[in-house]
Parts: sequence; C-alpha cells; structure tokens
Amino acid sequence: MKYLSTRGEAASRAFDDILLEGLAPDGGLYLPEHYPRFDAAQLAALRELSYPELAHRVLREFVAPADDAALLALLRETYTAATFGSDAIVRVKPLDGAISLLGVSEGPTLAFKDMALQLLGRLFERALAASGAELNIVGATSGDTGSAAEYAMRGRRGIRVFMLSPLGRMSAFQTAQMYSLDDPNIHNLAVQDVFDTCQDMVKAVSSDLDFKRRRSIGTINSINWARVAAQVVYYFAGYLRAVGRIGEPLDVAVPSGNFGNILAAHVARSMGLPLRRLVLATNENDVLDEFFRSGVYRPRSSAETRQTSSPSMDISKASNFERYVFDMLGRDAARTRALFADALARDGRFDLSADPAFARMRDGIVSGRSDHARRIATIREVWERSRVLIDPHTADGVAVARDHVEAGVPMLVVETAQPAKFADTIVEATGQQPPRPPGTEDLERRPQHFVVIDADVDALKAYIDAHCAGN
Ligand SMILES: *Cc1c(COP(=O)(O)O)cnc(C)c1O
Repeated sequence: MKYLSTRGEAASRAFDDILLEGLAPDGGLYLPEHYPRFDAAQLAALRELSYPELAHRVLREFVAPADDAALLALLRETYTAATFGSDAIVRVKPLDGAISLLGVSEGPTLAFKDMALQLLGRLFERALAASGAELNIVGATSGDTGSAAEYAMRGRRGIRVFMLSPLGRMSAFQTAQMYSLDDPNIHNLAVQDVFDTCQDMVKAVSSDLDFKRRRSIGTINSINWARVAAQVVYYFAGYLRAVGRIGEPLDVAVPSGNFGNILAAHVARSMGLPLRRLVLATNENDVLDEFFRSGVYRPRSSAETRQTSSPSMDISKASNFERYVFDMLGRDAARTRALFADALARDGRFDLSADPAFARMRDGIVSGRSDHARRIATIREVWERSRVLIDPHTADGVAVARDHVEAGVPMLVVETAQPAKFADTIVEATGQQPPRPPGTEDLERRPQHFVVIDADVDALKAYIDAHCAGN
C-alpha cells in the first residue's frame, strides 16, 4: 500500500515512511492510494475473530507489514484486557430504544484516544529501534490528547514527550492523570496561559526546521494517519457486534472536534462496512455542523472559539476534514489545494453549496449541534431513564443522535470518554459524583510532577535542549 497527499504529491510513500510524519511536504495530508474492500462473506468471517485478530485483518491492509506475524504479536500486546478493561476491548452497550453506546473509552486515560495511541507508542518504538533514531514529541493539550500520549509513550525507548498544558485550565482529574506520571521520559510543562498559546509554542518549535532536525522533533496530533487507521478497527468491531445479520444497516453518531474519529467511520464505510449514515455532533464550536447544513466551511479565530463543558470538542478548525473533502471531490488534489490552501488563506472560508459533491456529502453525513443546556439535560435524562452515566462529549452525541434516529435502523453512539473525567458537569446534571474506575480512587492525592515554564518559545527550546541525552 502506497500513500499520497491530498494536495497532489504522488503515491510513493510506504506506511513506515509516513508513520512518524505530520503534514506531507506539499502541505497536504496523507491517505492510502485506495481503500481495501471487504465483501459480505469476508465481513462475516471477521465475526469469529478476537479484537487483536480483527485489528490485524484490517490494519495489515494499510501497514503492508514486512513481518505479518510481528504485527499480529504487537496488536496482541496492545489490545489486552489489562489495558482496556475486558477481552472484548470495545463493547456495545444498549441504552434505550434504537440507541446503543460503542464503548471505546475503557483504556488507561478513559478516553477513546487510547485506542489509537496505545498502538502508536509500540509502532513508534519499533520503527525507532529499527533505524536507531530517537524522537522528541512536542505537543500541546487541553486535556485528553496529552494524557493519552503520555500513557502511550511512558517508558518507551528512544522517545521523550514534552507536553505543554494550560496551568489550572483542565479538569482536576485530567490534570492529576498527566501530572502524576513521573517517568523520566515524560515532561509535563505547565504554561500560565490558554491552550492556544501552548499550541502556538508547539507550532513555533516545529517550524524552526534547524531545531526540528537537530532535536528530532515530532508531533502526535490527530492528523497522523496511523491514528485514523487504528480507529477504523473499532467501527468494524462495533458493526459486527451490533447487527444481527451482515448487510443490515447501522447508523453511527460521533461526538466530533478535529474530524478524526468520524473520518475513521467514513474510511470503514469506504471499505465496505454497511454503515448507513454517519451523524456528526458538535458542541457550541459548530464549524462542522455549519458546513453540513450550509456547504460553507469557515474556520474560527481563537477569539471565536468557546470554552465549553465538552472541552475536547472545542476546536476552531477541523484538522482531518481535508481528507474527507478530498475523497468526496473524487480525489481531485488540485481542487482540494484550491480550497484548503488558496481559498482559506484568501477568504477565510470556502463554499461548496452549489457543488454536486455537497449533495453526496449530505447523503452520507448529517449533523447537529449541542450546547451546555442540552448536554446537562441529556446526561440527566439518560441517568433517570436508564441509570447509565454518560460523559459530556458522549451526551452531545446522544442528543444529536436522537434527532436523527429512524425506525428500523439501530444507532451506535460512540462513547468518547468516561464520566469520571468530568465530575463537575456530572454533578451539575445529576447531583452525584460519577464512580471512580478501579485504580483511580486516589488520583488527585498523588504527588504531581510538572515544571512551570514561561509562555516563550526560547524557554521551551532551552528546556528541550537541557533534557536531551548526549547534550
Ligand atoms: C478528542 C475527543 C473528541 C473529538 O474527536 P475528534 O477525533 O477530534 O473529532 C471527542 N470527545 C472526546 C472525549 C475526545 O477526547
């Protein structure tokens, strides 16, 4: 399998070449040259498989591994009951009526990002061992990405993590999850400023090409193709477990921010999985809902980006959206470049409402928006009706899913995080504390390890220099 860029670079790269990379050199995002297809008989055969075996069948198409048995062994090491809470790894949990939850947030940091990052940690370590190189991952987090990345990379050889976070602006649980780690290769850098400032510092470090090369700087953001590929697997698992007979339709609702998770659903459908409709749910930061309603894509400024009670969906632009638009434009790289490079730079927006591709997009993805009041009402209603606590992001998914349920078609809502991570909102909605998953009872009382650094790029570079080996 070869990889090409959404902006025109030819299909010439292998999976291992793009594994550690962010954007393609032409500014686009990598995609496989085609999506492998599974027919009904092949899908039916997948039903017998364990989760690691299923992941192997799906991912080997994308990875094209030199050593197939080694890939299976790595997947068996990644997707264990010890790490993900059950041998099933992901579970379908009936909620009410046609709606079930797809439980993909049972990993070490209680958000779905573990599903991909736990695998990436092992893939990165293996790739670095083969080349003898090291990798310094510099990232910024508003909560879930940072902890998932740190838990995936802790103790891994050849890898250090420098994670910037906005001091005092994450939930107490999220803060404790990250700062309680004291592995020597994990550096929590707290900045007395907002998340956007942290992100700007990361961008400044990555765009200093000399420093980037000298210190082998990498990132771990949601545009990494391997992350998307790992997420494709749980849509297969969800479908196989949710339907009676292969071929029956299934709708899926996805609480969305950077469009990574729902992109994985689009890829799964493109591989032959009979997903009927994808339901995209946003919070008050509704860039994507606006697009699917109007055909106009208009990224927001940071001043327009709101801090909400579903914080992991607080985005100003959707980093993975370009991949989907590229596919839906029949993989026309020149048009994709004209929209994402030229029109966005020139006008800050583009409009596809008159394009026949937009009608096709709306056949496949419908959208809706939630807000704080709906979120709270949904958490309360689900609790009162079903005695199930759902987290605020999942609540946005359930709220929007209810608007789009159709008779006879089951609906899976992706449960993107556990309620324990967002206790304040759960208390506001239900008057009670969410239960603590085993092993997290004393989390906030553990010693915390972090360094406060100035909101200054030179201070960040100096810190990285001082903590790289062989200095
Ligand atoms: C990251 C995240 C999202 C958004 O996912 P995208 O792939 O960025 O669309 C939603 N919910 C939770 C809990 C998250 O951590």
